[in-house]
Amino acid sequence: GCDWKRFLRNNWLLLSTVASVVLGIVIGVLVREYSKLSNLEKFYFSFPGEILMRMLKLVILPLIISSMITGVAALDSNVSGKIGLRAVVYYFCTTIIAVILGIILVVSIKPGVTQKMDEIDRTGSSPEISTVDYKTTREEVTPSSEPETNGTEVSVTATMTTAIFKNKTKEYKVVGMYSDGINVLGLIVFCLVFGLVIGKMGERGQILVDFFNALSDATMKIVQIIMCYMPIGILFLIAGKIIEVEDWEIFRKLGLYMATVLSGLAIHSIVILPLIYFIIVRKNPFRFAMGMAQALLTALMISSSSATLPVTFRCAEEKNQVDKRITRFVLPVGATINMDGTALYEAVAAVFIAQLNDLDLGIGQIITISITATAASIGAAGVPQAGLVTMVIVLSAVGLPAEDVTLIIAVDWLLDRFRTMVNVLGDAFGTGIVEKLSKKELERMDVSSEVNIVNPF
Ligand code: ASP
Repeated sequence: GCDWKRFLRNNWLLLSTVASVVLGIVIGVLVREYSKLSNLEKFYFSFPGEILMRMLKLVILPLIISSMITGVAALDSNVSGKIGLRAVVYYFCTTIIAVILGIILVVSIKPGVTQKMDEIDRTGSSPEISTVDYKTTREEVTPSSEPETNGTEVSVTATMTTAIFKNKTKEYKVVGMYSDGINVLGLIVFCLVFGLVIGKMGERGQILVDFFNALSDATMKIVQIIMCYMPIGILFLIAGKIIEVEDWEIFRKLGLYMATVLSGLAIHSIVILPLIYFIIVRKNPFRFAMGMAQALLTALMISSSSATLPVTFRCAEEKNQVDKRITRFVLPVGATINMDGTALYEAVAAVFIAQLNDLDLGIGQIITISITATAASIGAAGVPQAGLVTMVIVLSAVGLPAEDVTLIIAVDWLLDRFRTMVNVLGDAFGTGIVEKLSKKELERMDVSSEVNIVNPF
């Protein structure tokens, strides 16, 4: 009786978010079946979801600034250097493991060998180009290098590129202010330096530390308010997406490829990351993951690890009780450079496209794909479908046609959600692991430094 009530009180937000996902799917399917909405009506329909995205994005700027600056200023540079190094080692190792896992799966499942190119509708996302056109162009171009045929190839490439970017602009319109893009990495570096400097300024620096601490508290209060709106926003986001998708058939055609990516993501998040967490922290990893549930669900719904950041913070600090000196440091950086899910996806997708092109990859090319997939995941911003854009790096590194990303574009919005969820989970486990590894330094700071008793950490 009483336990049940307590469970409800502690988890009402999570429960209502789950309920709104289910309801959103039902409503989406019903509206899709029984009414033909015009584009404008579709836009209005998903508008409440759009509001959620915009609210979340508005708080990430003050959140990153205040948390990074206070996080760094609270540690002396010696300690923050150690914590930073541990975090980077963790990011790097888990990303590499994810890539290797992806490669093993895609090489053994061979999703691209059984289904040849013409089976997949190349016109899926670019109605201007028909399968026949594309094939002829290719055959013409490969044997000879006559100027006219080259010309054709260029125009096909151009059309496809336009198709990609047209598609991207459509996506990014939904994503709002990210079309201009914030340079999050640059911001993080600046905040790091700024935090270090005011941490060393003594009395006068303390004024600024207090200021940013207050800013951080205020931002988290706003996050709390936004989270109350979350179930409504998510309901309309998911329903709107279901109404909007034009081609469900492509999902069947690319089924094996999607299964490869999804099983890799599942193994990474259910087996590998929990195992690493357990080995280092010696606590139940699944309880920790459950504490992050709200953040994981948010990532799944909005496919952006940056926009999920406010929720990730709350879950890590409130539910999992991770030390704020760790989260303030590990989460913003992790959301930007640590993307296990994206790395795994890039590796699988590149090998898949190679298989479709009948290209036998040697060990050298596999290594090239692994390295560039890692780099591409670090370079990808935490916004929807950023991984698809950085894919081009991986493809061109092994000499695959960059425009072949069009082959997987139609299903990318779905895979994007799942890889973003894994990206967020990786950052979350990172906070627990780095906290455990840094226990000694944190405890020593607790007793030695008076400044930290004044700070509300
Ligand atoms: N959407 C992903 C993220 O925000 C990045 C990607 O496209 O892989 O983490």
